[in-house]
Amino acid sequence: MKCVHVVGFGLAGALLAWELRKLDVDVSIVDLGETETSSHVAAGMITPVTGRRLKPTWRCAELTEVAHSVYGEIETAHSIELWTEWALRRVFREEVMVEWFRERLQRGEYEPLTVNEILPGFHDDVEYPFGGFSHDGVATINIPLMIETLRKTMEITALGSGGNADVTVHCTGYRAHTDELWSWLPIEPSKGEILDVTIPGLHLDHVLTNGTWLLPIGGEQYRIGATHDWDDHDPQPTEDGKRRLLHAAQQLVNRTIIVDKHRAAIRPSTKFKRPLAGFHPLDPTQAVFNGLGTKGALQAPWAAKQLARHIVLGEPLDHEIDIQRWWKL
Ligand SMILES: Cc1cc2nc3c(=O)[nH]c(=O)nc-3n(C[C@H](O)[C@H](O)[C@H](O)COP(=O)(O)OP(=O)(O)OC[C@H]3O[C@@H](n4cnc5c(N)ncnc54)[C@H](O)[C@@H]3O)c2cc1C
Repeated sequence: MKCVHVVGFGLAGALLAWELRKLDVDVSIVDLGETETSSHVAAGMITPVTGRRLKPTWRCAELTEVAHSVYGEIETAHSIELWTEWALRRVFREEVMVEWFRERLQRGEYEPLTVNEILPGFHDDVEYPFGGFSHDGVATINIPLMIETLRKTMEITALGSGGNADVTVHCTGYRAHTDELWSWLPIEPSKGEILDVTIPGLHLDHVLTNGTWLLPIGGEQYRIGATHDWDDHDPQPTEDGKRRLLHAAQQLVNRTIIVDKHRAAIRPSTKFKRPLAGFHPLDPTQAVFNGLGTKGALQAPWAAKQLARHIVLGEPLDHEIDIQRWWKL
């Protein structure tokens, strides 16, 4: 394999290009240069516990190890800081969550995290009506900084067909949903909105969540996110999105919240919540890397490595991400 053409330079395209270059492949890249994409708007959180049912995140330990190593390589190569570690405190929204939590804890599902139950009441000024729990193992990745840094080291054009390339890899995010070549993939775009706010008098040193999270970004400033809307594919922020985020954040901290910035973008989500990677079943010159959904920061480094080695060295893809399973004629 001599030359690979990458279409789209978001999280997927940037990490794939990084892995391909490590395998000594010539990489050409085109990108539309949009500023409000999923990768630019994302909080970049990696969380080992997911969703209302408090499930351990899919293959979290294995994927976190690869993510830590790949982001670490980029940090070292470019003298930047991408990875920040956090503790997280979760506030239960309903009584039944106490049961779900205790069952999973007892079954050892959260190992090797350090997990502590929080009893109902006020803790550091925050009300836990049904209790909650704290755990470690959370990180945030500065995805925009990574993309902007890598962008400077790679030649990226706004136009180009990759005429000499052996393979073209489409890393076009939610737009693949309407691309004739890839519309058979199970991509279900989901709009996400996010706020940057100031909360006077609040000084948290951890991430706080009740489903909606509050992430410290310096001083009294926080990021609040994120909404999920599978019907609205207009990437503009909405008043309804803002209202919902503020309402959930008020339930957490019950303080004045001043909105500094409001952003929105469309995630390339899937119902089965795994990345999508591989060659087009009818055209071995076309490949795809997509489906990162809400877990891009965690899944992208591992999946990019898999796909790069599949394209260049012919190594098999993990069957859970291989798009061949979705091809039906
Ligand atoms: C509000 C919000 C919060 C989020 N928070 C988190 C989080 O905390 N943790 C987490 O892991 N994930 C989070 N995500 C999800 C994460 O952002 C995505 O998983 C990831 O960014 C997807 O990256 P991508 O490269 O596949 O897609 P995109 O970021 O959409 O990138 C696709 C790129 O391809 C370009 N492109 C498209 N079509 C073409 C074309 N025809 N030619 C050239 N270029 C093209 C686009 O301009 C874009 O640059 C969040 C998303 C949102 C919206």
